[in-house]
Amino acid sequence: MTRKTQKQNESQLEKIVIERTQKIIGLQKRIEFILGATKTGLDIIDKNFNVVYIDPEWKKVYGDPTGKKCYEYFMGRDKTCQRCGIKKAFATKLPVVTEEVLAREGNRTIQVTTIPYKDENGEWLVAEVNADITEHKKIEQALRDSERQIREITDMLPVVVYQYQFMPDGTQKFIFVNKATKNIFGLRQDEILKDFSKAWSKILPEDAPLVFESIKKAVEEFKPWAHDFRLRKKNRKVVWIQGRSIPKKIEPDGSVIFYGTLTDVTEHKTQEVQLEKYRQHLESIVKERTKKLALSESYYRELFKFAKESEEKFKAIFSKARDGFLLADPITRRFYMANKTMCQMLGYSEKEMVRLAVDNIHPKENLSDIIEKFEEQARGDISLITNVPVQKKNGAVIYADINTAQIFLKGKRYILGSFRDITERRKIEAALQMSEDNYRSIFETASDAILIRDIQTYKTIDANRAACEMFGYSKEDMKKLYIKHFMTDETGYTWKEAENFYKLAADGEPQLFEWLGIDKAGRYFWVEANVKRAVIGGKYRIISMLRDITERKRLVTMKDNFMNTVSHELRTPLAAIKEGISIVVDELEGEVGSENKNILNVVKKNVDRLNRLIDDVLDFQKLESGKMPFRLKKHNINEVVEECCQVMGGLVREKKLSLTLDLDKSIPSLSFDKDKILQVLLNFINNAVKFTEQGNITIVTRSEGKWIKVCVRDTGIGIKPEDLPRMFKKFERIESATGQNTGGTGLGLPISKEIIEKHGGRIWVESRWQEGSEFYFTLPLNKKNGVKNAEKNTYS
Ligand code: ADP
Repeated sequence: MTRKTQKQNESQLEKIVIERTQKIIGLQKRIEFILGATKTGLDIIDKNFNVVYIDPEWKKVYGDPTGKKCYEYFMGRDKTCQRCGIKKAFATKLPVVTEEVLAREGNRTIQVTTIPYKDENGEWLVAEVNADITEHKKIEQALRDSERQIREITDMLPVVVYQYQFMPDGTQKFIFVNKATKNIFGLRQDEILKDFSKAWSKILPEDAPLVFESIKKAVEEFKPWAHDFRLRKKNRKVVWIQGRSIPKKIEPDGSVIFYGTLTDVTEHKTQEVQLEKYRQHLESIVKERTKKLALSESYYRELFKFAKESEEKFKAIFSKARDGFLLADPITRRFYMANKTMCQMLGYSEKEMVRLAVDNIHPKENLSDIIEKFEEQARGDISLITNVPVQKKNGAVIYADINTAQIFLKGKRYILGSFRDITERRKIEAALQMSEDNYRSIFETASDAILIRDIQTYKTIDANRAACEMFGYSKEDMKKLYIKHFMTDETGYTWKEAENFYKLAADGEPQLFEWLGIDKAGRYFWVEANVKRAVIGGKYRIISMLRDITERKRLVTMKDNFMNTVSHELRTPLAAIKEGISIVVDELEGEVGSENKNILNVVKKNVDRLNRLIDDVLDFQKLESGKMPFRLKKHNINEVVEECCQVMGGLVREKKLSLTLDLDKSIPSLSFDKDKILQVLLNFINNAVKFTEQGNITIVTRSEGKWIKVCVRDTGIGIKPEDLPRMFKKFERIESATGQNTGGTGLGLPISKEIIEKHGGRIWVESRWQEGSEFYFTLPLNKKNGVKNAEKNTYS
């Protein structure tokens, strides 16, 4: 070949390449357009071939599917289609990919991916993702055509155009080479394709390792390869080869595919520029094609993913959600989807719901605010809006917290809103607020000091006004203080000693005790503390209610002192007077005369009465203040009654009255202080004798359930109804109808009442004026009951 003819050939070749390239570019553009326009549609079919769901886009083409089998609906057939993948998908529970030609759509080729899945009810359904691949098929054909064209062109090129594979273990091979191998390597296409080493062996030994390293690097980095190296031709001539390639893809086995060229750059320096042009053209073609291939691949991957994951999962989550879900268009604010919960929440059907927009489900007066917020949510500036009034179909307004997220469905942006109904919560909150307000006002206005403390640390959490006044601190200061700051250092009244009361209260046992407190100024004062555990604001707290009892204590002490003085100051001179009178009456110091003797006897009686009065007052005092000891032991009440009758026998006989006993022998022995019960009985019988002129006195004992009952009945003067309520009140002496001086102190019955009640029993009287009286008391059979109450009541 002469240099001239070679040149001619080349310029011809260039022309062809340019023409073809333009054709290919046009084709690419079409491909792009077609790919962009390709649509997919989703439908869901049940086991009986009923169309359960149809993509709204497809619905426009095919109409309403209700009541139609899929083969009728899509294909216009009366039998299932022969190549249908539905049966197989149901049987294998695996996705099936089939191709169908839709006659009704101008014989378009549809690729159907049939994906079986379980719906929320556990029913198997299939989702069919229908991709119109008519255009895709055309593209495939076009690509095949362009491939052939490329081959034709490349074969005419003086450069080696190749497809090459680099395996992870370092082995290499050509997948495709053009005819130019003959020129460059002096080897035929088929020789090189069969045995790569044949081509490799042509590389100069000193260059080969570098070539290999450079390829390896391109593989590792998945970057274009560019390397110049030398080959030794058959005729031993060394030529320079410029190697260029770009990585196309990584195969599942890890090998990397390159597309590239090998150009002889030794000679034909003038051609170099031209060839470089061709090479660049080719490269761009290869690049374009690769891009297209990758594009269509990822496109299908996306579709599949969307069908399999997004739609299915999204729908499942959407429909199963306990919160209401609404899918809205961010621009038109119209709803696109609503789940069951949402529909129930607002009282609309799903169909009604998707005909509404944000603007239709809120009260008019709040709408502009809500839309403003919705737009912020749509922009993604905020996601949560709370306490949103939402209007139900029936007009009622509920409140919801609305959380939003942007989601993409079929490439379109939507705002997904989850609605949480907080109407109930708001009601509870309002009620809580009210009770909190009530509690606050009671707390603040209470006259007793109230302190609320942490159940573990006893730190003051809250204190009312009275508490602040009691301790002299401000509310803020109070909240910084622990319980120990309100306790003295006095032995017996330190925090260490009080701690036990608080521990018991924290365990749920309310405590009542008297304690010595200390205020900010260091003043000591007595408090009665009522400490209990309570739930405040959902937490266990210790509540202390404190009452300043300093004054009360002072009065009690004063009274005690007074009583001691009275007993001492009166009893001593009275004993002396009584002794003196006895000496005179007994005429030890000379005769007195009968008249004087009578007077002195009256004096003596009065002195005795004064002594009894003092004894009674002191007794009562002791009983009331809990200082009277009780000796509880098991006794038979009947025996006590009999003993009493023996004591009183003389008196009864003296008045010519009869005494009857009506005793219940079945009464078991029970615990009581015998001397004190005897005192009660003697008081009852003594009164009965005193206020009865004729007839009889009966003593009755009975066992009644958990109690024993004792009654002293007389046929005496009785008690006027208006006097009955005052019978057991201290110092309330009822003036006897006869006007006679009975020598009583008026303390007998109040003392009896104290004694019986300290035993846990009850005391009362029933009487009819001029007919007689019945005095009763009961005692508990259960010892514990009696003792416990006695102890409790002893406590002041
Ligand atoms: P006193 O020591 O004065 O009798 P009590 O407390 O025992 O004091 O009795 C108070 C008053 O109750 C008596 O003064 C009397 O008026 C009235 N009373 C008590 N027992 C009887 C009774 N059996 N019948 C009528 N009146 C009675």
